[in-house]
Amino acid sequence: LIRLDQVTKRFGGTTVLDRLDFTVDPGKHVTLIGPSGSGKTTILRLLMTLTKPDEGTITVDGEQLFPASEKERREARKKIGMVFQQFNLFPNMTVLRNITEAPVTVLGLSRDEAEVRARELLDLVGLADKCDARPTQLSGGQQQRVAIARALAMRPRVLLLDEVTSALDPELVAGVLDLLRDIARSTDITMLCVTHEMNFARDISDQVLMFDAGRVIESGPPEKLFGDPEQERTREFLSAVL
Ligand code: ATP
Repeated sequence: LIRLDQVTKRFGGTTVLDRLDFTVDPGKHVTLIGPSGSGKTTILRLLMTLTKPDEGTITVDGEQLFPASEKERREARKKIGMVFQQFNLFPNMTVLRNITEAPVTVLGLSRDEAEVRARELLDLVGLADKCDARPTQLSGGQQQRVAIARALAMRPRVLLLDEVTSALDPELVAGVLDLLRDIARSTDITMLCVTHEMNFARDISDQVLMFDAGRVIESGPPEKLFGDPEQERTREFLSAVL
């Protein structure tokens, strides 16, 4: 469903991604792990078209994201939803409006249709009673639940999760991870996660990719990658974070 072919990304003189190839099959849950600065977030930002590759090809569900015309890119981009570390909710809108805005403006749903869907999603994330609240009136965990509902409201084929618990108070982390586990189990959505939560990665992933210096140095099912890694670099990394 997601395919990166020979993707290179440089910032100034630094090569952040180096001729990277990987694919994510439909319905799979893939997690990227690796040291800080190894390029994980850059991959999610490329998929969200927040930045462009210098070389290479990226496709999503058969539609070309790079290189592509603006129109092709907009269509491909609709298949992807993202949840950010810092929630990134619109502070001046109610919770309900945060969720209905893009379905109305981008997908062309009527406001009524979008609200029905938003209320179902708020129910799913356990915030049915917060429709009229503003983001600042919510805890970090609640804001992240709204951000998850907002991403799902676009009915994406792919959900990108960028360290979604790292800005949360420790006691709120488990609830958000449980919600994502439920979503992973109960839907056919494809997930690509960047996380430092190794237990979550182990639990949710079909495949884990170990990144170092802009390349995938090892990949495999979580039991293998966490239990019996092949690369010394992976072992070192895991012993530092586990
Ligand atoms: P972390 O786990 O700390 O989030 P990461 O693996 O996600 O790290 P990236 O955020 O992808 O790493 O960053 C990879 C490298 O690219 C880093 O060295 C970073 O400083 C650099 N970088 C990222 N974005 C930019 C930018 N907009 N301009 C310049 N350099 C950037």
